Amino acid sequence: MIQTKAYAALHAKAHLHPFEIQRREPGPRDVLIDIRYCGVCHSDIHQARDEWGGSIFPMVPGHEIVGVVSRVGDQVRRFRPGDKVGVGCFVDSCRECPSCREGLEQYCSEGMVGTYNGRERGSGAPTYGGYSARIVVDEKYVLRIPDNLPLDRAAPLLCAGITTYSPLRHWNAGPGKKVAILGLGGLGHMGVKLAGAMGAEVTVLSHSAAKHEDALRLGAHDFQVTSDESVFERLAGRFDLILNTVSVELNLNSYLGMLRRDGALVLLGVPDKPTHVHAFSVIMNRRTLAGSLIGGIRETQEMLDFCAKNGIVSDIETIPIQRVNEAYERMIRGDVRYRFVIDVKSLD
Ligand code: NAP
Ligand code: ZN
Ligand code: ZN
Repeated sequence: MIQTKAYAALHAKAHLHPFEIQRREPGPRDVLIDIRYCGVCHSDIHQARDEWGGSIFPMVPGHEIVGVVSRVGDQVRRFRPGDKVGVGCFVDSCRECPSCREGLEQYCSEGMVGTYNGRERGSGAPTYGGYSARIVVDEKYVLRIPDNLPLDRAAPLLCAGITTYSPLRHWNAGPGKKVAILGLGGLGHMGVKLAGAMGAEVTVLSHSAAKHEDALRLGAHDFQVTSDESVFERLAGRFDLILNTVSVELNLNSYLGMLRRDGALVLLGVPDKPTHVHAFSVIMNRRTLAGSLIGGIRETQEMLDFCAKNGIVSDIETIPIQRVNEAYERMIRGDVRYRFVIDVKSLD
């Protein structure tokens, strides 16, 4: 076993603090990665505080992992020591169900194995995430980070990037399409950059008036504050696609009203409470209310290559791991521009 420094929450009400974990010795198909940076996703907070239920403790969060390969098993073909790599939200799946065969492992019928807060197939051992010095992952679930992407600013692509890229592609964001990004946080700011690069006309819908300038700088064509009720009338029937990245409950009926005929509102944020939707909100204009979960390995690699080609990375604030609890509080207050990224060297 490989003794590894990490940060963990011991229970749902606990702050994260230093913790030692054991990584397995790399098997024939495994890659041992020295983690350099790990992004802080709002899902880390939801799970560390058990807001969705069923959390496994102790928990080492972190699923926006980038680092450098330090060792590979003897059957590994795609990676060598020294390669820059990433690991996203899952590290295994059944590999045989229709979703796995189609490269949509996140929808595996046996359940994907989460990078943390999951259980390894077979042994049932808990998985531990990227707030740690190293990780061992089967090469099939490891991504290649293109050379021209800086590692720290690429980390958030592994979740925030793919979670917005995948629905933008699925619902055909591109020239002539009006896309709204609801909530300008970690996911939201990636959504703005990606939708813009795909050629869509992008509007940011935010509850924070202070983010107006940032939204335009990130590439949005328009910015609207949702605390001003008149926005729902002014933008009625306007968008082809709305990505909802907000982590708290909203009145979805109001936002559905902003869709044109056959438009789709896609839920990405996961509030802890259910939401009520009136049938007329979707019956009128034949609208779709949908959801989307991260993205498969193949599409995540496609997204990384798309970002490399288009010069897209995340806007980050780098922190030592000792400040992660403070970062959680700031994220909950919406005080992040636009992703915290942990410099894992600070664990030494
Ligand atoms: P984040 O950085 O904290 O951003 C969330 C944004 O929500 C805020 O920046 C804020 O933007 C907006 N917001 C609106 N009303 C708010 C309120 N009352 N309080 C706080 N924020 C409010 O979070 P994130 O990391 O982007 O994650 C967003 C959500 O997506 C989380 O629920 C997360 O669990 C989920 N998620 C889902 C997937 C998936 O696969 N579907 C993947 C990753 C994350 P404005 O200030 O612009 O309004
Ligand atoms: Zn995430
Ligand atoms: Zn499967």
